[in-house]
Amino acid sequence: MLISVASGKGGTGKTTVSTNLAYALGKRAVILDCDVEEPNAHLFLNPEFEETENVTTKVPVVDMARCTLCRKCADICRFRAIAVAGKTVLVFPELCHSCGGCFRVCEPGALSEGLRELGDVEKGVSGDLGFVKGTLRVGEAMSPPLIKKVRTYHDLSRINIIDAPPGTSCPVIAAMRGTDFVLMVTEPTPFGLHDLKLAVGAVRILGIPHGLVINRSDMGDDKVRDYAKAEYIPVLMEIPFDRRIAECYSRGGLIAAMVPEWKESFMELFQKIQSQVLS
Ligand code: SF4
Ligand code: SF4
Repeated sequence: MLISVASGKGGTGKTTVSTNLAYALGKRAVILDCDVEEPNAHLFLNPEFEETENVTTKVPVVDMARCTLCRKCADICRFRAIAVAGKTVLVFPELCHSCGGCFRVCEPGALSEGLRELGDVEKGVSGDLGFVKGTLRVGEAMSPPLIKKVRTYHDLSRINIIDAPPGTSCPVIAAMRGTDFVLMVTEPTPFGLHDLKLAVGAVRILGIPHGLVINRSDMGDDKVRDYAKAEYIPVLMEIPFDRRIAECYSRGGLIAAMVPEWKESFMELFQKIQSQVLS
């Protein structure tokens, strides 16, 4: 099973939910940290990494000795990553989406493949729990290919918990697409509701079953619950604002490890997800 844990904005407790759920499931689960711009699941689960893969993408390199300055490469590039300027061809690797278009149209064969580093994927364990983390290279803007790479490390004999990036843009879609269930984490505030509506819109376009966790549930108002009810989105868990939870989080701890009842609650959360997926 593939469960993505998402939120319309950062700071809602998405990683708290994904790490505690993964911890509660233990050896039955693998957590894949796809929040590659700011991975932090490792801070809570302290994994030991066993292997690292450097992830690259292909970018064009120009051989001016062969180039006829025909401009076909520049004309086909939607991303303005390659341009003809006077008697030379300029490549802007950071803008390249590795679509391969320029290679196909360059009849003299003046383009060869160079590599741009995207980041790395580390694989390891946290006790019995499988752990995979993607980290985007500092300064790199294109995260979806790295997220897709992290997802190739899933283990279909186990429950895969995907910690998605916050928001509703391409990186989130890359993390959620093709998963069996999206668990959306929000908080009962006007900002939480606004971003939740955007996230629900994205999940519904993808056609993935989804449910809600309301964090800091005893703060704010009831508008998130009213929205969930009106939209037939099941609220699968509520986590109240609790001083012990906040202290545990600030120390990099897991509430499922600190309080046995919370471990039970996260197991129940998984059972509810399972029922939703199977229904
Ligand atoms: S398509 Fe090839 S030959 Fe034409 S300008 Fe680009 S690199 Fe040069
Ligand atoms: S591979 Fe695609 S995105 Fe990159 S420079 Fe060529 S045409 Fe542009």
